Amino acid sequence: MPIPNAINTYLVGDVLVDAGGRNDKNVILKELRGRQLSAHALTHAHPDHQGASHPVCEELGVPFWVPEADVAAAERPELIRERQPDHPMSRLMYTIFHGPGHAVDRVLHEGDEVADFVVLDTPGHSAGHMSLWRESDRTLILGDVLNSMDPFLAIPGLREPKSFFTPDPAENRRSAKRLGRLEPLLVLFGHGPPVRDTRKFVSFCASL
Ligand SMILES: [Zn+2]
Repeated sequence: MPIPNAINTYLVGDVLVDAGGRNDKNVILKELRGRQLSAHALTHAHPDHQGASHPVCEELGVPFWVPEADVAAAERPELIRERQPDHPMSRLMYTIFHGPGHAVDRVLHEGDEVADFVVLDTPGHSAGHMSLWRESDRTLILGDVLNSMDPFLAIPGLREPKSFFTPDPAENRRSAKRLGRLEPLLVLFGHGPPVRDTRKFVSFCASL
């Protein structure tokens, strides 16, 4: 995407977290050149996160790690479309971004370790959505529980993800409130720039 931070992926130690849309394969592999990867993990199986998962795992020969309730969708992306709200935008995003499914090698659960982060179950935006938390420096990779900019207009600011991408907004809001109570010092989003203003993040989550 031409807009900075429109779709983010993260390298956490030697684990790639999320893999953008299917056309992001080349840029991801280029950025990873010269690095040794041990695994690729998804925060959730949505088209703009799993798009390049299959070629990344194939070309780098790394296992695929996915939270339990999203495993079926990561292996069979047509399930993503079925589980999303029936809306023209979710159908369009699916068409543009989704990539082939890939067999999952490790099923992730609350409390599991991914590099030096721990898995938190944060369902709502998808059935199996997870966030990653590192207590030692209070860093949170929250996936799409919230966005830090409007994904279409690129206007910065904390917001809930679009309702047409979120099958269970009430559950997602409960997940956001849980993440706010962690009082992170650095919050990293699937869409939008990092947020370091803890107070603003905590009060936004509490206000939901
Ligand atoms: Zn997303």
